Amino acid sequence: MTPILHATGMSRSFGGVHAVRDMSLEVAKGSITGLIGPNGAGKSTLFNLLSGVIKPDGGTVVFNGRDVTSLAPWKRARLGMIRTFQLAREFQRMTVLENLMLAPQLQLGETFWPNFLTPGKVRQQEAEIYEKACEVMEIALLAKLRDTYAGDLSGGQKKLLELARTLMIDCDLILLDEPGAGVNPALMQTLTDMIRRLNRDHGKTFLVVEHDMDMIAQLCDPVVVMTQGGYLTSGPFEEIRQNPAVIEAYLGE
Ligand code: ADP
Ligand code: MG
Repeated sequence: MTPILHATGMSRSFGGVHAVRDMSLEVAKGSITGLIGPNGAGKSTLFNLLSGVIKPDGGTVVFNGRDVTSLAPWKRARLGMIRTFQLAREFQRMTVLENLMLAPQLQLGETFWPNFLTPGKVRQQEAEIYEKACEVMEIALLAKLRDTYAGDLSGGQKKLLELARTLMIDCDLILLDEPGAGVNPALMQTLTDMIRRLNRDHGKTFLVVEHDMDMIAQLCDPVVVMTQGGYLTSGPFEEIRQNPAVIEAYLGE
């Protein structure tokens, strides 16, 4: 089966440091693929290369059969591959609903100018976006928090909102950067269940970079292991965690 995302030979250095070197990765359509590795392995750099936030020194990223290596993140989003972003400070002062309603414009790189020229169209678009936001808040269990300022949400609720923002756009592949970071155990389960539900019931494919091995074990198959900027191995979590090379890579963590 053709993978939804296929990265080959990705490389990126910072100064003299090879953060990612000759790394290849496939994400099968319909999967929740995990990406793990010890600190400094290059996961975040690879994630930024895949989403287009930074440019590679070499390598190609193919999404749904199309070479997207040189496309900006918002152009990739238009094609159906989207990543979560941490809420920037200015968005903390907007409500959950407002954050969701702004998400499409931000993520798709739209400007406000064409809208000023056609006010009738704007009202219709706004109504559609509002409806979508309500739907997304139901899915993401945020309906009761719609008028809460994002800045007042707990760490876990912020993660739900980050994930919810990606759902404002029709996308096939969602890249999650440490969804479990700063989330308390109760919400961790909620978040895990939500990702699974979006995968199973809404057909979303995920690539998840995560430190929390319980979350990885519950969600991800396969799991890809990176070390020192490159590919180490991949497979089901149960296999990975017994692999001596993986254990060795994590020693000293
Ligand atoms: P991980 O997310 O797996 O912990 P990173 O991708 O953050 O790993 O980092 C991989 C390596 O690249 C590390 O040695 C890190 O110090 C280095 N690195 C990452 N980003 C930068 C940067 N912007 N400038 C300099 N070095 C960087
Ligand atoms: Mg990292």
